Amino acid sequence: MEISEIQVDGYEKVARCRDEATGLHALIAVHDTTLGPALGGMRMLPYVSEDEALFDVLRLARGMTYKSAVAETGLGGGKSVLIGEPSALKSKALFHAMGDFVESLGGKYITAEDMNIGIADLEQVRERTRWVTGLSRESGSSGNPSPYTARGCFQGMRAVLEEVHGSGDFGGRRFLVQGVGAVGGAIAIMLKEAGAEVVICDINDKRVAELSREHGFTAVDDANHLDVECDVYAPCARGAGINDETIPKMHCKAIAGCANNQLLEYRHAEALRDAGIVYAPDYVLNAGGIINVSVELLPGGYDEAVALQRIDRIYDQLKLVFQIARDENITTRESAARLAERRLAEGKA
Ligand code: NAD
Repeated sequence: MEISEIQVDGYEKVARCRDEATGLHALIAVHDTTLGPALGGMRMLPYVSEDEALFDVLRLARGMTYKSAVAETGLGGGKSVLIGEPSALKSKALFHAMGDFVESLGGKYITAEDMNIGIADLEQVRERTRWVTGLSRESGSSGNPSPYTARGCFQGMRAVLEEVHGSGDFGGRRFLVQGVGAVGGAIAIMLKEAGAEVVICDINDKRVAELSREHGFTAVDDANHLDVECDVYAPCARGAGINDETIPKMHCKAIAGCANNQLLEYRHAEALRDAGIVYAPDYVLNAGGIINVSVELLPGGYDEAVALQRIDRIYDQLKLVFQIARDENITTRESAARLAERRLAEGKA
């Protein structure tokens, strides 16, 4: 196994690992550990080149620094990527080698699930390093993050309603949820229970039909979902849905959903502001999962009550983001970044 360093400005450490015996070709990026060890998921994709993988891991690690700084998890930002086709390359030996690679950073980087990496893979990584989070509840870990992500979004939506209507009451407000999977489905149910009118759409027709029947949601065709007039549009399916093509079609007062990287480009936050649409930055709203995982690392270990209390602070963080945006006359995207940068600067002082 050969581990080497890649020098990248603005990053504390970027390492490459190549292991001929197992076919492992992986990168770990530690962006910033000012506020704590760098926690971020491990993903596996058939990147066409190491440069493409490097671009992805750097972008994602930096994003984790900002996410954790705003969420006050006491952690920094990092990420890891394995290069290769998951179905062809996955093996116990590969994940053991990856575990040795993670271990070589001595706890500076802590890993978790991400794209194409499941609990079974992480359990193999865990056989070689203790710097793994998000394993099963039975093993003393924090388990599936989705219900916690959903709860955090719901709490944040209260702040969004207050921003739009001056009251956080869900009663009679109309929410449009796109993507009713693990997180979006749970959000829709919480909204309905809180008295909101819930309209859902998804490319999975069966799931839409089941949920609508069980919970009394109104279903709309995904292709035309932006026609729905609503108080809050919650993108919970995929990224880049906020762009030049979609913004003029929107009929919502606010956007607040769990999907990652909703803005195609940063400038779309300005376009939303110009259109009079309040935007809850995705990484502020969807931090419930990482907050839940961060509780595993506290001296007493994972405690759900502590996790829930911390997740509910997403409401306060969003209030702060809206406040800074108003006071400094900037978009909410910029204000979330400013909040993170201030916390990092305080941590360095
Ligand atoms: P999921 O796979 O369980 O659900 C996604 C749902 O979106 C599925 O029902 C799918 O059919 C639907 N979908 C996919 N493409 C669509 C499209 N083009 N139009 C409409 N519907 C579409 O995923 P999830 O765990 O619920 O995550 C949803 C989003 O939230 C993702 O962007 C994810 O990165 C983000 N997120 C999830 C978590 C978590 O804890 N699971 C944490 C942070 C962010």
